[in-house]
Amino acid sequence: MDLKKFVDFERLEIAFEAKTDKELKKRHFIFSTMKYPWMVKVGTSMTKLSLGLHLPVQGLIKSTIFDIFCGGEDLQDCEAAANELGRFKIGAIFDYSVEGEKTEKGFEATTNEVLQTIYKASESKTLKFAAFKITGLASFDLLAKIHAEQSLTTEEQSAWERVQARVEKICALAHEKGVRLLIDAEETWVQKPIDELSIKAMQQFNKESAIIFYTFQMYCHAMLTNLKNLHQHAKDNGYILGAKLVRGAYMEKERERALEMGYQDPIQPNKESSDRDYDAAAKYCLENISEIGLFAGSHNEASNYKMTLAIDELGLKPTDDRVYFGQLYGMSDHISFNLAHGGYNVIKYVPYGPLKATIPYLIRRAEENTSVKGQSGRELSLVEKELKRRRKS
Ligand SMILES: Cc1cc2nc3c(=O)[nH]c(=O)nc-3n(C[C@H](O)[C@H](O)[C@H](O)COP(=O)(O)OP(=O)(O)OC[C@H]3O[C@@H](n4cnc5c(N)ncnc54)[C@H](O)[C@@H]3O)c2cc1C
Repeated sequence: MDLKKFVDFERLEIAFEAKTDKELKKRHFIFSTMKYPWMVKVGTSMTKLSLGLHLPVQGLIKSTIFDIFCGGEDLQDCEAAANELGRFKIGAIFDYSVEGEKTEKGFEATTNEVLQTIYKASESKTLKFAAFKITGLASFDLLAKIHAEQSLTTEEQSAWERVQARVEKICALAHEKGVRLLIDAEETWVQKPIDELSIKAMQQFNKESAIIFYTFQMYCHAMLTNLKNLHQHAKDNGYILGAKLVRGAYMEKERERALEMGYQDPIQPNKESSDRDYDAAAKYCLENISEIGLFAGSHNEASNYKMTLAIDELGLKPTDDRVYFGQLYGMSDHISFNLAHGGYNVIKYVPYGPLKATIPYLIRRAEENTSVKGQSGRELSLVEKELKRRRKS
């Protein structure tokens, strides 16, 4: 199988076209640091400690890791990042990345911020997308209780009604503005209420096209079947399924909890099974594209290549308005920029938020990028190759 038949992620002059030498050198420094798991561990602890002690480390974080992985501290700040992506026909999802809200006031503030991202996306001349996490609008404990089918107190029942109203308001605005809206997937033990809200919204707003997207975490062994079942549900109920595919971000947590509590681990037995089901899900969606909108969120080169092959095999065009590729800002630009150059629809999540509040997100990125689990080795070697290429030319 010639994976590179339609696009070649190794074309570094395209991958890094937007980056100056100075920016590349900064990335080189950051990714070489993140290569070492011990450094990420020490850096994470020191960051938490320094912020806790109010030491003046915010400037350092902002000019390094925050600058690479986040668009800015507020929506306005993100404009530069979005404009730069836009120059290369890549869309931006402004992703308000403040986590761990616990108060009703905080949930309301997050709801308003998500509404602002939808207004902002509706002004975009190209790809109009937004995304949010239900745990930004609702108490995690409340969602876990609903998931476990425990009975709610009167107060909790009213809180749940407020959550439903917030989600409905956000989805209705997205529908009104024609902005596709991705509802992120989270830990499996809060997923049932997230499923319920997402499916209800799809039923309501996806009559003509996929506006609301449900996220399928393909690292769960049941997920390929779930995808097919939900597709059938969409057909039976007269709506278009919005399918955002990812592998899943909470594997360690999931495994630990299952072991601790003695229930069957919901995660696939190994990486190969997650890869296999992710690719099978992407293929399934493409084969049924007249009934499904597909957003494929992945930094996996093989999966992205396979999608370009399947798009061609099925006689679809790269520009097909029902198929989107997604990556995170600051990661896998070689995939995003080369796909966009090849005419495919590409969107990058651009996280933003007050620096201190984005620390959990940044820590996840740093951990994901250590050499044991991930891709900093790949990012680093690509940056090194590009710097070398520039020195020669
Ligand atoms: C645009 C975008 C949106 C995202 N949104 C969400 C979201 O809403 N919810 C969410 O949970 N995640 C989300 N993610 C993160 C995603 O789930 C992955 O954690 C991340 O992208 C890494 O997977 P990958 O497909 O890029 O490729 P790879 O780096 O090839 O895959 C790594 C992933 O494979 C799986 N894996 C690794 N080892 C094993 C193993 N031993 N057994 C089984 N599976 C294994 C894990 O899911 C791991 O994250 C998103 C990612 C992107 C790019």
